[in-house]
Amino acid sequence: MDKILSISYGELALKGLNRRYFEDQLISNIKRAIKDLGYEKIYKEQGKLYIEANEDDFPQMINRLKKVFGLVNISPCIRTEKNIEDIEKAAIEIMKEKTKNQAIKTFKVESKRADKTFPIKSPGLSRKIGGVILKNFSDLTVDVHKPDTILYIDIKQKAYIYTERIKGYGGLPVGTNGKALLLLSGGIDSPVAGFMMAKRGVEISAVHYHSYPFTSERSEEKVKELASILSRYTGKIKMFSVNILEIQKEINAKCKENEMTILSRRFMMRIAEKIALREGIHGLITGESLGQVASQTIQSLSVTNAAVNLPVFRPLIGLDKLDIVEIAKDIETYETSILPYEDCCTVFLPKHPVTKPKLEDIIKSEELLEVDSLIERALENMKVTIIE
Ligand code: ATP
Ligand code: MG
Repeated sequence: MDKILSISYGELALKGLNRRYFEDQLISNIKRAIKDLGYEKIYKEQGKLYIEANEDDFPQMINRLKKVFGLVNISPCIRTEKNIEDIEKAAIEIMKEKTKNQAIKTFKVESKRADKTFPIKSPGLSRKIGGVILKNFSDLTVDVHKPDTILYIDIKQKAYIYTERIKGYGGLPVGTNGKALLLLSGGIDSPVAGFMMAKRGVEISAVHYHSYPFTSERSEEKVKELASILSRYTGKIKMFSVNILEIQKEINAKCKENEMTILSRRFMMRIAEKIALREGIHGLITGESLGQVASQTIQSLSVTNAAVNLPVFRPLIGLDKLDIVEIAKDIETYETSILPYEDCCTVFLPKHPVTKPKLEDIIKSEELLEVDSLIERALENMKVTIIE
């Protein structure tokens, strides 16, 4: 009898070749997430993954695994040989543990016999083990409709017995759905946007724009910290830091004050697209949410969009701020996001930004600027950091 971790994933949604690809990527992401904790073996058996590791590491390991996308449930379980005596022993041990930690009055047993050569059918096995539990735990009764706990028994090449099902985020393993470049500010929204795209299997790189020395080094550290929190879910993130102070000064000197935000936004998109094309990245991600601020009206978003050809993913577009904040808290970026350091956009913030910009007007304003060479210079001075 030994204690191991079992992992279930979204198997039903995947068929054929796709499934193999998904499983391989999931296994490699799991290995990466727990590499430094050490494990003995990871193996696949009939639709689930199993991890052999030191039991003392389980709590920390489960915490890491919860952040690996594609994974639906994690269960600490006992693995035994497939004979009824060992299964009984394991069931008693697990129920002892369970009743010690929680006030439990009712239970039921659910068996699943993947190995049809096992002599007892699933209902018979559940009844038998249920009987053993009733005999050993005089306070417990069976409730098949709303039990306080369910004891699961999976009969495969070995028998696996468990009660816990710790939820993961689901989604698809990062790396199974292409690459995108996240425009990462220091705010609440963009880290959440990156999280949501990574959850669909997208590998994330990030670009951050700053206006150093108008913005401080501390504010850059803050963004790196956000990327680092995000990397717990996404794996390593290649992060590009671009100084746009010269661009902002030029806009400030030559264009209308109320167009500052929309013009800088178009520069940000263009620079991001250049980086993406160089890096073999397939799309851009922003944390924009419709109507949240002046630069996020439908008109502003479409003028922003028109600056680039790559698709721009905005996974927060229909979310309320409260919903976004809730996710930010859950994924642990919120506390860092609300640190009060300045952002490049606040440096030249117009008092009354245009809310319904017209593309023709914006293009006219851009004719006053040397767009290409401004972008080229910004890219020349770009810094790259690998965040993990
Ligand atoms: P956030 O909370 O993500 O900063 P926000 O509500 O403050 O968003 P804006 O400041 O209008 O909204 O920014 C909209 C989006 O533009 C951001 O979600 C982000 O994707 C991108 N963005 C804004 N500022 C920067 C920046 N300094 N560096 C990189 N991307 C940025
Ligand atoms: Mg912002």
